Amino acid sequence: MDTDAGIDYGTFEDGRHVNYWELDQTLQRELRRGYTDDEFDWAESRLSAFGETVGNTIADNADDIDGHGPELEPYDKYGEVQNWVRYPEAQYENERLTYEQGIVADSFEAPPGRDEPMPLSHNLAMQYLLSYSDPGFDCPVAMTAGAALVLEKFGREDDVLCEYYDALTNRDYEDLIEGAMFLTEKQGGSDVGSNETRAEWDESAGYWRLTGEKWFCSNIDAEGTLALARTEDAPAGTAGLSMFLVPHADPDDTDGDGPYTKGERQEDGPLAPAETNDQFYRRLKDKLGTISVPTGEVEFTGAKAYLVGEEEHGFRQMAEMLNLERLSNAAASCGIIGRVLLESKIYAANREAFGETIDQYPLMRADLVDMAVTHEAATTYTFEAARLLSERERAARAGETADDAYRLMRLLIPIAKARTARMAVDTASYGMEIHGGNGYVNDFVTNRLLRDAQVLPIWEGTENILSLDVLRALEREDAHEPLQAAISERLEYISHPALADAAATVEAEFHDLMGALATLAGEDTEYAQLSAKRLAHYVFDVFTAALLLERAQRNLEEDENGRLVLVANRFVSRELADRAARGITSGGRFALEAYDSIVRYGPVSTDEVHGIVTDST
Ligand SMILES: Cc1cc2nc3c(=O)[nH]c(=O)nc-3n(C[C@H](O)[C@H](O)[C@H](O)COP(=O)(O)OP(=O)(O)OC[C@H]3O[C@@H](n4cnc5c(N)ncnc54)[C@H](O)[C@@H]3O)c2cc1C
Repeated sequence: MDTDAGIDYGTFEDGRHVNYWELDQTLQRELRRGYTDDEFDWAESRLSAFGETVGNTIADNADDIDGHGPELEPYDKYGEVQNWVRYPEAQYENERLTYEQGIVADSFEAPPGRDEPMPLSHNLAMQYLLSYSDPGFDCPVAMTAGAALVLEKFGREDDVLCEYYDALTNRDYEDLIEGAMFLTEKQGGSDVGSNETRAEWDESAGYWRLTGEKWFCSNIDAEGTLALARTEDAPAGTAGLSMFLVPHADPDDTDGDGPYTKGERQEDGPLAPAETNDQFYRRLKDKLGTISVPTGEVEFTGAKAYLVGEEEHGFRQMAEMLNLERLSNAAASCGIIGRVLLESKIYAANREAFGETIDQYPLMRADLVDMAVTHEAATTYTFEAARLLSERERAARAGETADDAYRLMRLLIPIAKARTARMAVDTASYGMEIHGGNGYVNDFVTNRLLRDAQVLPIWEGTENILSLDVLRALEREDAHEPLQAAISERLEYISHPALADAAATVEAEFHDLMGALATLAGEDTEYAQLSAKRLAHYVFDVFTAALLLERAQRNLEEDENGRLVLVANRFVSRELADRAARGITSGGRFALEAYDSIVRYGPVSTDEVHGIVTDST
């Protein structure tokens, strides 16, 4: 229910059986800004329909699946290898509901009602909504989109790979396949260059054959897995890796009519042993969370495979997939933050302690204000990076380049993944505490969200590895140049007096950040690595602050709404300002005065905002 003060969260029982799109005004704003008018007009009702589905059927199914996840039945009753993963019925339903709403297809092929595909941001926005309910299932969705992107770029010349691309981007569940990416081996996940899996050309069969072990394989039974392997005489390290598409079923023993699909799987059940590819799904990992995606160990025993792109270009090609996977991870992190925030607002508006609902107490108000500001920051940054990725891919599809967008996105994406994953874990952990003892038990979704969130900093690259990637982007792409231009442009646009103090703080930090980048460029590797993580977070803070200030200025001009002024001020004060005595002596009561606006999305006039921002501690 909306009142003058904003959404009344006390009217909800918990954060399910609601429409996540309709309640998440932060995502709505960022997409309205990042999409063209045409795209937004087309997408709005569809995102709303998807938000409704995720908030109802998918949310209920996700809790069910968490208690009864996929199970591996490696052998049939005669002891022959069948590599069968048994999914609960609820999972088939979630898959159908998600893919048939175009989560992957719409960003690759023109959907009904449009002449062109939607930008990749749209795929990420849907992943964000899906992760409100099932961040585990978002992993296969992300890898299906990632595999499609790789085949779109590097598989165009090959008829078989085109068939796989068509199946990955299919709108019809019966004809759909999913993707996966197998990189990690026992001896190396971060150190992909240590991969030992071998690929040999089998002339008589007319296939490449893979031999070796993959140690962490999510969506283990995907119909179109991309794997890295080393061909004969290939050099050591990442330079010697090639990329292969490994079908789940033996490509010679399926019905010969394109790849083995979801429809065949659901109708026919386990493959006959003769129909399996030459591989063995050894076991599923017994994981903390993300139960809905089966992650296991695979032994390639001469698996038939197709080379993707050129030999020894595998790592470079995989990097293209990784850009999208890392942003998918960031979108999933934002979705988890959004759900935890929603659950926390609702719980706090209903739970009574000491005679009042707990959302009436100053400390709880400050907690919820800060959680909402974290959500704003994570979402704003992620969809800015998504906009750049989309711009670059749109240019690539048109046979053009978008150099600055590429260079900036190369810097922003590893940072997006690292920071939002950390924010998701911290937010899910504190959200649990807001639910008191209840938050710790399985009856409440906070328990699962924390377990699911905990993998986000690890897979797709740990925070240290991503921080080293930031150094690479700076060195190889001179990414500080487009970064400087992007921040300057935004700061120059700020003119409103209510933003002046925050803008001055950001201006000073921007100057220091550029100084830090110049210093690191002249330092030795050891010194640069020691600072890499701090640098990544520094870029996030300054860039996000500039984005929030810009959004705030625009909101004042276009809607005369000062809510984002409050958000921007709180973010800058929390992350960048040098506060005397940590703000304790400032006398400010910002969280109380800004609560309705920041937490409940209540509009706030320009006049009111002036009084509140005088002290944003
Ligand atoms: C649930 C789950 C699902 C997964 N699914 C997949 C999948 O589908 N496909 C796939 O390929 N992989 C998958 N992985 C593997 C995952 O990507 C790796 O575990 C991850 O990249 C880390 O690699 P590692 O385990 O080898 O750790 P290591 O590389 O051994 O890292 C251990 C620690 O050392 C640090 N470290 C390593 N090198 C450096 C350095 N140079 N400087 C500073 N610190 C360093 C890391 O940051 C980390 O903290 C999955 C993992 C999990 C948990």
